[in-house]
Amino acid sequence: MPLCLVASLPFLYFCPIKGTVDILANPIEYLKGVGPQRADLLKKELNIFTFKDLLELVPNRHIDKTKVNLVRDITPQTDFIQIAGVLKSSGLMGEKRGKRLVAEIKDATGTLELVWFQGITYIQKMLTVGQTYLVYGKVTFFQGQPQITHPEMEVYNRENKEGKSTLEPVYPSTEKLKSRGMGGRQIGHFTETLIKLLQENNIPEILPESVLQPLQLMPRFKAFVNVHFPSDPETSQQAINRLKFEEFFIAQIRMGLLRQQRHRYSKGVVFSQVGEIFNRFYEQYLPFELTGAQKRVIKEIRRDTGTGKQMNRLLQGDVGSGKTIVALLVLLLAIDNGYQGCLMAPTEILTQQHFNSITNLLKDLPVNVRMLTGSTKIRERKEILQQLEEGTIHFLIGTHALLEDPVKFKNLGLAIVDEQHRFGVAQRARLWKKATVPPHILVMTATPIPRTLAMTAYGDLDTSIIDELPPNRKPILTVHRYETVRSQVMDFIKAEITKGRQAYIIFPLIEESEKLDYENLMKGYENVQAYFPEPKYWISMVHGRQTNEVRTTNMQRFKTGDTQIMVGTTVIEVGVDVPNASVMVIESAEKFGLSQLHQLRGRVGRGSEKSFCILLSGSKLNNEARERLKIMCATNDGFKIAEKDLELRGPGDIEGTRQSGALNFKLASIVQDRKWLEIAREMAERLLDDDPDLASATNLQLKNYLQALQGKTAWSKIS
Ligand code: ADP
Ligand code: MG
Repeated sequence: MPLCLVASLPFLYFCPIKGTVDILANPIEYLKGVGPQRADLLKKELNIFTFKDLLELVPNRHIDKTKVNLVRDITPQTDFIQIAGVLKSSGLMGEKRGKRLVAEIKDATGTLELVWFQGITYIQKMLTVGQTYLVYGKVTFFQGQPQITHPEMEVYNRENKEGKSTLEPVYPSTEKLKSRGMGGRQIGHFTETLIKLLQENNIPEILPESVLQPLQLMPRFKAFVNVHFPSDPETSQQAINRLKFEEFFIAQIRMGLLRQQRHRYSKGVVFSQVGEIFNRFYEQYLPFELTGAQKRVIKEIRRDTGTGKQMNRLLQGDVGSGKTIVALLVLLLAIDNGYQGCLMAPTEILTQQHFNSITNLLKDLPVNVRMLTGSTKIRERKEILQQLEEGTIHFLIGTHALLEDPVKFKNLGLAIVDEQHRFGVAQRARLWKKATVPPHILVMTATPIPRTLAMTAYGDLDTSIIDELPPNRKPILTVHRYETVRSQVMDFIKAEITKGRQAYIIFPLIEESEKLDYENLMKGYENVQAYFPEPKYWISMVHGRQTNEVRTTNMQRFKTGDTQIMVGTTVIEVGVDVPNASVMVIESAEKFGLSQLHQLRGRVGRGSEKSFCILLSGSKLNNEARERLKIMCATNDGFKIAEKDLELRGPGDIEGTRQSGALNFKLASIVQDRKWLEIAREMAERLLDDDPDLASATNLQLKNYLQALQGKTAWSKIS
C-alpha cells in the first residue's frame, strides 16, 4: 500500500495552554464520526493517531465542488475529473485475481466506466442503480476507453453543498481506506469536524511579529484552517506558504543556534603565528602560484584558527580545484604553532597518493610525515603509535585506521578529512575526542553541494568554496556515444595513446551481486584486450575484489606510465591523480548518477593536454538518464551538476548528504521552494543577530516552541 503520498507536517508541536485541555492530543477515535474501527485504519494506513496528526495531514489538492465536468469533454489529457450522473448498471466481471466490479455512470453527454478491484463486496452494497452520484477520480484509458478506477462516489445532492466552502480538500488516501469509505475526499469530513472544534489558542502563533509582519505571513491558526478549507485558491496558497516558511525558518533557527553556540562557547587551540616552516615552504617550495580562491580559503581558515574557537569548516571544491595544497598549508600552520595534524582519506590508494604528493612537496623540510592504514605492518604501526604519542610525528596521513582507539596524539591541533561523503558524522566525532581541546576540523569534499542543500543539511558548519580552477586547464570535452560505435571509441583511444596519452575505461557497479559485477568487468576487460593487444599495449586493472597490494601495484603501474590503459570499476573514482591521462570512457554511463559521472570525469583534465570524456550507453534510455547524459555534455561545472542532480533525484538520495532529520521537510521542498528557503535563512540570521539567546519577550513563543522540540528530538542528531 503506497504510503508515500502522506504529507504530514513535521516539527509541529502544540504547547498546551494553561487552563485549556490540549484538544489536539486527543486520540483520533474520539473525533466525532471516526470511532474505533476507522481509527484503526487511519493509524495503520496514514499514521494518524491523534487530532494533531489529522490536522497536519495536508490535502494533496482542492477541488471545486461546484464544477462538474461532462463525459463528452474527457480527452487523453484529462487528469482528475468530477462527473455527476445516474448509475446505469453495476456488476461483477472476471474471475479470481481478475475479478472486478464494473459500473456505468451516465450524464447528459455520455457514459463512463467505473472499476473497482478491491473492497468489491462493500462497494457493491453501497451502490444503487438509478441513483444520481457525484463521481470523482483520475481518468485512465483502457483499450481506448476512458474509465475511473476506484472513484470516490457520493450521492449527488445539490442542497447539501450550500454554505460549504466551494474548495473541497482531497487528502492522500490508500486503496484500503478508499474501500472503507475513507477516500481522499471523505477524510475531509473528519478534518471539517476537527477544524470546527479548534480555536486560536489551540494553535498559538510561534513566529514573532518581526518575521510575520515584513513577509505578510498568515497567522498560524488561520494558516491551518485555510490549508484545509480555503475560501479561494489565493488564500490556500498563502496558507501553504506560511507553513512552508515556518518549516524552513524553524530549521534555520536551529542550525543557526548550533553554529552560534559553537562560535561562542567552543574552545579551540590557537594558531597564533605564521611560522618558519610555512614561510619557507611558501617562498621556496610552492610549485605554482595559488589561485585567488585558494588564497581566500586559506585566509578564511587562518581567521578561524586564530580566534580560540574550534573551527568546523567544510571546504567544497570541484575535482582538480587544488584542495590538497590548501590542506598542506594549513597543516604547516598547525606544525608551526607546535601542534600535530592528521589527514584522513577514504581509501588506501588515496591515502598513499596524498602521502606521496605531500612528501614530494615538502622535500627536505623538517616535517615528519607518516602513513597509517589497515595494511601497515605491525612493527611499523607500533613505532608510529609510539612516536605519535611522543610528538615526534608531526603529521599523520591515513585511512579510517586513524580513528582506532590506540591511535593517540600528543597534541592534535588539526584534523583534515578528505572526500568527506564517505565518512559518517559519528566517525568525525571520534576524531574530536583525540585531544583534550578538540582539534580544528576541516572537511574537504569534491562533491559540490547545492546551495540549498548546504543551507539545510550543513547549515551548522561554516563553509568555504574553491570556485576557480588552476590556470591553463583545458576544459574537458564530453560526448555521449551509443555502444554500437564502441570500435570508433577504441580507435580514438588508440590515437591518443599514440600521442603519448593514457586512458581510463570504467565499468559500473550495478548488479545486486558482486559476482555479476565482477563477470561484467572481466568481459569488458577481455574486450579491451582484444582491441589493445600486448606487447604493444599494456593494461592495468583495478577492482574491489583485489587485495590492497595488487590494487596499489596496478594503480602505480598506470601512474608511472608503465600501462597505457586503466580498466576499472568506480574504486578509482576518488581523488586519483594521473595528469597524463586524457581520456575517460564510462561504460553503461546511463547507470551512473550525475555526481558519480562528474567525479569520474574529474580524473582527466588534470594535465595541460586537452582531455575527453566519452559516455557510452545502450540505445534504450529513459528520460532521466537522457537528461543526465545531456547535462554532463553541456557543462563541467560541478555546482551546476549538483543542482541538476538535486532537481532530478530530490534531496533524499543525494550522495554525501546526511541522513538527518534536518532534511525531512514534508511540506516544503528545497528544490521548488528555494525562494522561501533563502528568505527563511535570511530572516533567521537577522533574528539571531539581534537576539542570539532569544531572550526578548517578542521571541518568547519561538523559544518555548524550540525548547519543546529539543525535548522531542535528539539534539545530537543534527550536531
Ligand atoms: P583536488 O581538489 O581534486 O584534490 P588536487 O589538490 O589534487 O585537486 O589538485 C589537482 C592538480 O592541480 C594537482 O596536480 C595540483 O598539483 C594542481 N594544482 C593545484 N593548485 C594549483 C595552482 N594554483 N596552480 C597550478 N596547479 C595547481
Ligand atoms: Mg583531492
